[in-house]
Amino acid sequence: MMKRVLATALVLFAAVFTACGDGNKSSSELNDNTSTNHPDVSGFSLDSFNIETDYQPFFDDNNSIVACEEGYYKFADQFLYFIDKNTMQPIPLCAKPDCKHYSGYENYEECNAYFSPTVYMSDKGLFYYNSSLYLIGAIDESNSQSLYLYKISKDGSRRERVCHILDAGSDLNSMNFRFILHKGNGYLSYSGDNKAELFTFNIEDKEAKLSRIDEIQGYGAEIYRLKGCENGISYQYGSFTDDSLETYEGGIKISVENKTETVVKDAVKSYVITNGSVYYEVSDGLKVYSISSKKTRTFETVDNNYSVNYDGKYFYTYDVMDENPQTLSVYDSNEKYITSLEMPENIRQNFLLFGDEDNFFVNCCKQDGIWCDMYFDKSKISDENAEWIILYEYS
Ligand SMILES: [Zn+2]
Repeated sequence: MMKRVLATALVLFAAVFTACGDGNKSSSELNDNTSTNHPDVSGFSLDSFNIETDYQPFFDDNNSIVACEEGYYKFADQFLYFIDKNTMQPIPLCAKPDCKHYSGYENYEECNAYFSPTVYMSDKGLFYYNSSLYLIGAIDESNSQSLYLYKISKDGSRRERVCHILDAGSDLNSMNFRFILHKGNGYLSYSGDNKAELFTFNIEDKEAKLSRIDEIQGYGAEIYRLKGCENGISYQYGSFTDDSLETYEGGIKISVENKTETVVKDAVKSYVITNGSVYYEVSDGLKVYSISSKKTRTFETVDNNYSVNYDGKYFYTYDVMDENPQTLSVYDSNEKYITSLEMPENIRQNFLLFGDEDNFFVNCCKQDGIWCDMYFDKSKISDENAEWIILYEYS
């Protein structure tokens, strides 16, 4: 069964920073980049996206998949696969002779494609940077309190711990944090103890020098949906106004080069930033906020839409209340409606992973409890007979 780690809110973090790199500083002595100056991201667009250095905002934000020029890397059931773009055939990332590359095999822990869940946090995302893969994890099987950044070679043969991020003081798996890698910087948010903090660090440092970007306080305070944005980051934040947990206040912020600005104040369900605008779903539809003019307009007025995504070519919106099979609405980059895309049929649950300009990915729970990953060739998006294709199944 695929492990899906649910966000565990309200975990205590008091000890998190007392033992890390710049360990003995109090939080007020850490570099504090919080500022009300306006970041300039009005020119930010996926047209300037660099696959070698940039966070990949066209995948779902909890992505266990990344793209490179030749194809995709994706985790499935703790095994890492490479999917060649030309063949779309998934291959376990292991060249060891005689290895069977699956968990039923007696020596599966020695397979180069296997990433033990007690060390590697594949659920916190997989990242591609300067022709290597990255993910975060614990130091080893016996110590689940020290957080490291791991670098994996593209052929899977080499793994190394390249950066010690922090010592948590308690089990990393019990903590509510998020991580992304963008343009050589790591971004890490923690939520707990009615406080949420966002830090950045340079991954070239063997001992991370954590620099604070933001801190928010309030009941159930959280910083989440981190995405690379220009030379900085965008993220959602929010908390409840009181302990009755009835009224939630939050929105979207952008922080670039020491300047942080709140761009949206609303109960946002999902968002993307491109072409100098923030596209975000709220309860009554999809809105567009222009970063330069600071004006908001309506894109689509469908209630219950949950997800919005953009791949550089198409926008996708997703109505979670749809009957099975669920459908996405597809718009071009000028916001003109193109078509609807039906999710795979006879599937109990779909988890949208979205994708680059070429392919759309979905992780499915089938009726019989078997999981599978499927993809859709976007060049056939207007072809009514085009079908979802299974990459692999696992239990
Ligand atoms: Zn193997």
